[in-house]
Amino acid sequence: MITIKSAEEIEIMKEAGWIVAEVFRVIEPYMIPGVSTAQIDSIAEELILDSGAIPSFKGVPGVVPFPAATCISIDDEVVHGIPRSDRILKEGQIVSVDVGAKIHGMHGDAARTWPIGTVKPELLELISVTEACFWAGLKMAKAGNRIGDISAAVQSCAEKSGFGVVRDLCGHGVGHELHEEPNLPNFGKSGYGMRLKAGMTLALEPMITLGDYHIRQMNDGWTIVTSDGKPAAHYENSFAVTDDGPIVFTMQDNEHSV
Ligand code: MG
Repeated sequence: MITIKSAEEIEIMKEAGWIVAEVFRVIEPYMIPGVSTAQIDSIAEELILDSGAIPSFKGVPGVVPFPAATCISIDDEVVHGIPRSDRILKEGQIVSVDVGAKIHGMHGDAARTWPIGTVKPELLELISVTEACFWAGLKMAKAGNRIGDISAAVQSCAEKSGFGVVRDLCGHGVGHELHEEPNLPNFGKSGYGMRLKAGMTLALEPMITLGDYHIRQMNDGWTIVTSDGKPAAHYENSFAVTDDGPIVFTMQDNEHSV
């Protein structure tokens, strides 16, 4: 069932989203060589708890419940990497951090990818195209348009740059639950799928690869990697569909956008 959120619920989601954006602002200086992914996770968790929120991801059921507040995924890891004290960031890597925060019963969910030190130009392009894919999709997130209009815009943005679009994972509704209906794929056909209505709240999250779109899961039961071992980037924001265009929850005003 797809829920339409009230103005009050949307205000709470703005609050949850602001906390997620604040996590990105605070961890950014730590996205450098020598920092462990567990250190980044603990900074994020402390900030979420100090804000009166709860980390949305901690305890999400799986083969083992997800053990951390953030998913931190390095290079060929697409999403759902588990923070660890022995995973130390290294020059030349690209690293995505996915963060969820729940406050007053509602979630915000977003992800960013950072270069660590100096990285190959093709990786910087991958990061910026992944972000551009989000904005291309968001532009189509108007009441009256269809889910497929968003999906097709994301896919075309990635493929015209020669990158792969992960198909087995997708964006989703977000709100009272971290993952709600509908699914929001990053590939599809414009003019198809469910019609968007004002008050729907969604997380759009392009996962874009330097190679092919096939993925597989690691033995830890969580980490998703590209099958061909090529790097992947992830960019996500939670937003509301309104009659006057989308409202992005998980960004602060000063954040760069494509
Ligand atoms: Mg998400």
